[in-house]
This record gives sequence, structure tokens and C-alpha cells, in this order.
Amino acid sequence: MTAPGTPWASSGFTAPRPRLHGTHRCDVAVIGAGLAGLSTAVELLEHKPELRVTVLEADHVAAGASGRGTGLLGPRLGPALTTARRRYGDDLARATYLWSLAAVQHVLDLVERHRISCDLTPGSQLVVATGERAAEQQWREADAARALGVPVSFVGPDALPPVAARYASGLRYSHAATLDPAALTEQLARIGEQRGLTVFERSRVRGVRRGLLLTVSTDDGEVVADHVVVAVNAYGGALKAPTGVVGVRVQAGVTRKLTDDALAALAGLHTEPLIEHGELSPYFRLTADGRLVVGGRDVRRGPHGSLAPSPGRLGAAVRALSPALSDAQVEATWAGPVAVTRDGLPVVGHHPDDPRLFHAAGCNGHGLAISVHHGAYLARWIADGDRDPLTSALPWMRPKGPWIPRGRLVDRVLDRYLARLADESDPRHAPGRVTDTEPAATGSHVRPTEGRP
Ligand SMILES: Cc1cc2nc3c(=O)[nH]c(=O)nc-3n(C[C@H](O)[C@H](O)[C@H](O)COP(=O)(O)OP(=O)(O)OC[C@H]3O[C@@H](n4cnc5c(N)ncnc54)[C@H](O)[C@@H]3O)c2cc1C
Repeated sequence: MTAPGTPWASSGFTAPRPRLHGTHRCDVAVIGAGLAGLSTAVELLEHKPELRVTVLEADHVAAGASGRGTGLLGPRLGPALTTARRRYGDDLARATYLWSLAAVQHVLDLVERHRISCDLTPGSQLVVATGERAAEQQWREADAARALGVPVSFVGPDALPPVAARYASGLRYSHAATLDPAALTEQLARIGEQRGLTVFERSRVRGVRRGLLLTVSTDDGEVVADHVVVAVNAYGGALKAPTGVVGVRVQAGVTRKLTDDALAALAGLHTEPLIEHGELSPYFRLTADGRLVVGGRDVRRGPHGSLAPSPGRLGAAVRALSPALSDAQVEATWAGPVAVTRDGLPVVGHHPDDPRLFHAAGCNGHGLAISVHHGAYLARWIADGDRDPLTSALPWMRPKGPWIPRGRLVDRVLDRYLARLADESDPRHAPGRVTDTEPAATGSHVRPTEGRP
């Protein structure tokens, strides 16, 4: 039996799906059973039920980022609005933000249409800033939002909710929600299977051969298809698709159930998660059963490995949030892969030399809504043979990401940079913050997927 889902969410157990053996023929083969791959598959079958669609997954459904996310469903994509205006002009900056809002709505509609049980809680997101400089940046960002006519508002210190009282300012992003991403992913697989989707688990794809048809090979078999969608996100290195996307590991954790006093002090956090402004800054949200999920702090190069998440570092971030959390303990931590690009935008499109070979990757740790929406876009493109003209004009619809230097020396420099970023973001090193460490006995290191792809 495999257990999909984040360690803190119980989305049930599912029997393992079969492994690919022998040769199998289909219309569309999808590589990767995360949100992007499964959304593509479900959308293809909703649009054209007669299609034969097969998903090949190296491990099990939701084994990657989609099964380990912290469940903040929200808008925003790529650089800040101030940067996006400068880089792409107002029309594209606005279109990008509106597209991300449509992605959130897409997930809300999907959950409602299929009655997906995933603890969906609609609300907003509050990005909070410490210090004058960050507050000024937030003010400029809200100004850019006003100029573009998109719903992002500045929240001054007097208007911040009590849980955010110690911050200097905030930016409120309306039209957001929280949910259990693992439950969403697993149920997408089931919805697809009810419509005829075939999912092979423990079937790692070793390569895609391009001939008259496309042949996707695993250790024990092959799938011959007219179209292939590579939706492996941070794990793309081995399949070399697409280039310009790099995998890193980030961490998250969850506390035990909080006391009534602590929950009262965090009022509002259930419908409005708090995200601290800045690189690797922590973010927080409450679960339906009264636990605090915390993410951020640490990042390491490469999608594989546990990252040895530290309950101490996450615990310090939790306790710094509110005096009511002084006894709160992080009960479990886990790590997961995210795919990053140099310009912070995803990479969605087809292979530069082969229009039958599609890819979607590189959501830079913010892909819950976006990956699902990418899947729908690719599905329509494949099924209709034509793509949505508005979406295809967006700057991340491209055959590859911007060039990223590689090699051992570059990796070492990157490792040092990431470690320094993590250290600088540790609240135990910041003045005026909580400095104690988590008692050794309280944190358990949870590894949701031992057999990582
Ligand atoms: C700790 C953490 C917290 C996050 N929190 C949030 C959040 O709060 N909000 C948000 O918007 N985003 C969040 N994200 C990001 C979000 O989860 C991802 O952007 C999204 O799930 C990516 O989906 P995907 O389908 O592209 O990739 P994945 O879910 O990683 O799916 C890729 C799949 O491909 C499989 N695979 C890999 N190689 C092969 C191969 N060779 N053959 C076959 N299969 C293969 C993998 O096993 C995996 O199942 C978080 C990510 C992490 C790790």
C-alpha cells in the first residue's frame, strides 16, 4: 500500500497501481503523476473522451511536489509587478497576473465540479514585511497593482490583523484558498481513471525516442504514443526536458494540534495565510484540524534527498510568530522538490524540434494553481491541435528556460549561496526574535516518499 499525501494530511491509502510491462499503445502519454500531468490527462479525457491517455509515474501518484506542498492556492506568477511592468510592459504584466487569477479559479471550479474532498478553504493571502524598506517596496507594489487594475491592496500597520501586528505592512492578495494538495492530486488520478485513464506506477521513464511515433521507454516496457507530455517538473534533468529548469529541495513542517489559546491568537490565519516578505522567509497557515503548517527557511540544490529538515529552525519561526506559540512544537517536517528558473517564470510549450513532445515545469515553488492550469492549456492544445492565442502570448510559453550555468564549480558556488541565504533567514540569528531550539525529542523527521524518483 502506498500513502499519498503530506505527513500532516490524511488523504487515505490507495492500492498500488500496476507497473508498465510490455508494449502499450495510446494517443497521449503523460510522464509524471503530479498536478500538471494529471490535470493534462483529466482535461484531455473531459474534452475528448475517446482519447487513449496513459500516465507513467516513476514512484506513485503525488510522489513529487504535488504530494508534499503546503497547500497555499493563490495568484501571482514570476517577478513582482513593479519588475514585470518594466520587463514586459503593462499589457503583459497585467495579462500574467490575470492568468494566475484564472488559474486559482480553475482549481476552485475543478474542486466544485468533481466534488473533490481536499479541505478547500477560500480566503486571501497576506504577505507581510518587516522594516521600512520592505514596507516601501510593498507600497510600490500596491501602486503597480493599482496601475494595472489587479486586486492587490496595501495594508498599513494599523489595519494589519492581530496575528500580524508586529509587522510593518502587508500586501493582501484576494482570491486565494488553502487546500490539501495531496488529496487533490490523488483524486485527480481517480477522476481520470473513472474516465478510462491508465496510470502506471513504479514505471520510471528512461527516455523518449522520436520516430514516426514517439516511444517512451521504462525498464520493463514501452508506450508508443502520438503525443507525449513531460510533466516531471524538478526531476527533468535526466529526461533533458525542458532545459533551463533546475530542481531544488525546500522544507516544510507542521505543529501538533494547537491549544485553544494559541488558536485564538491566530484568529484569521485559517482563511488568510501569512507569508513573510523575502527570500526563504517563513510562511504559515492553519489546517482545518487546528495545526500550524510552516514552510520556508531551508533550500538545497537538486530534487533528490531528504534535506534533513530541521524542526528546530522551523520551530523557531513558529514561536517567533506569536507569544501564544511559545510552547508550540513542530511535530513533523518533510522536504520536497521545486523547479526553478533564472527569470522566475515557468517553461511551458513543446520541444524545439518536435511539436509532439510537450512540457510544463518551473513554477518556482508556487505551482499549486498554476500547474493545474498549465495541464488544461496543454490538453486543449493537444486535443484541438491549436492553442489558446491569449495564453500562448504569455512570456513563459516557450521551448526552454533562460540559460543556467552548470558544472561542478557552479554547483559548489550555488550550494554556498543557498546555505548562506538559509542562515540569514534563520530567526534565531535575527535580533529580537526567539532564540531557543526545539527539544530533540519533539521533532520527527518524516519522509513521505522513501523511494524518491
Ligand atoms: C514543501 C513544498 C511546499 C510547497 N507549497 C506550495 C504552496 O503552498 N503553494 C503553491 O502554489 N505551490 C507550492 N509548492 C509547489 C507545488 O507543489 C508544485 O509547483 C506543483 O505541485 C508541481 O506539480 P508538478 O506536477 O509539476 O510536479 P510534481 O508534483 O513534482 O510531479 C512530477 C512527478 O513526476 C514524477 N517523475 C519524475 N521523474 C520521472 C520519470 N523519469 N518517469 C516518470 N515519472 C517521473 C515524480 O515522481 C512526480 O510524481 C510546494 C512545493 C513543496 C515541495
